[in-house]
Amino acid sequence: MRMNWRYACNNCDFSRPGDQPIWRCPNCSGALHVEGLPAFRSPSSAAGLWRYSATLPIEAPVHGTILGEGGTPLVPVEIDDRLFHLKLDSLLPTGSFKDRGAAVLAGYLKQAGVRRIVVDSSGNAAAAMAAYAAACGLECTVFVPASASPGKLVQARAAGANVLPVEGSREDVTNAAQAAAAADPEADYASHNFHPVFVEGVKTWALEVWEQLDERSPDLVFTPCGGGSALVGAYRGFLAVESSMPRLIACQPAACAPVAKAWECDGEIGPFAQGDTIAEGTRIAMPSRPRQIMNAIRESNGWASVIDDDFLVETLRMLWGKGFSIEPTGALGVAAFRLANRAGKIGDEDSVVCHATGHGLKATPTIASLL
Ligand SMILES: [Zn+2]
Repeated sequence: MRMNWRYACNNCDFSRPGDQPIWRCPNCSGALHVEGLPAFRSPSSAAGLWRYSATLPIEAPVHGTILGEGGTPLVPVEIDDRLFHLKLDSLLPTGSFKDRGAAVLAGYLKQAGVRRIVVDSSGNAAAAMAAYAAACGLECTVFVPASASPGKLVQARAAGANVLPVEGSREDVTNAAQAAAAADPEADYASHNFHPVFVEGVKTWALEVWEQLDERSPDLVFTPCGGGSALVGAYRGFLAVESSMPRLIACQPAACAPVAKAWECDGEIGPFAQGDTIAEGTRIAMPSRPRQIMNAIRESNGWASVIDDDFLVETLRMLWGKGFSIEPTGALGVAAFRLANRAGKIGDEDSVVCHATGHGLKATPTIASLL
């Protein structure tokens, strides 16, 4: 148990100790971040992502890992005659990078005395939070859009979550989840989109990359960007090791690219009129932590990349043809890397890491339709 850190708001001067869970600023409703974690020196001998627990909001579980989270392979791949490393977070326990955030957030909430968690998601976050709620002994309710495909909810239901469909917009689903959590004194809104402790778990993907590259940061890191936790997590992870900061590239589908739009006009992120894309995991018209996302891109001297679905499918076929099982959203980073390589934005000596965020088994019907 470690709660001697603080929540701090990105927009105002709100700050509060970390022993009481809170998911957004009570003064201005802004996104929070975690402040005051101990400095990271070197990984411990613990298993999986708990090797980095010195720089996490909670200490390692007594029995090693919870479900085997962390420790995913970093493998060399060659595409378009250019070598890069692929970080296979598709191989985490429920098949997506969100297990990193879910393991740390569920563990933290359990230790803080929460009994029930409420989430809203129709995809990978629901599967991850439901699995870690089950493993940590928390009851879990998942609010989903009534239109969500039943196949995407199987993992959450199998883990024992109570799945409740909500008619209306995606925002209505979020509102229903927040209202349910607020009405129950023993429940907490365990949002992957808002909760800063979730991002602290996700940052371990960058710490692993750093260790796997012999305690060096790569020069460029390409990661899919929807709600932004993989990108902001990477920024916080590389900041924690006090190594050099790689250029961080936020990779979005053309049909839903609010971050890329803000980047191109050197402005702030606003709502995006989204269209259809096979990269479902990044269909987020307005991310909940816009300032953190733009800060990660700007402070790392990175950029935002837009990928159209045809190019994403071409890239997916290359990866599948090499034997990698990756869902469409999870290949946005590799597609953006290919675009940057073609545009001459990558130096000969640059070390490149692409983040494969989700397993192909997550999207079997979509992949079947593309073959
Ligand atoms: Zn605030």
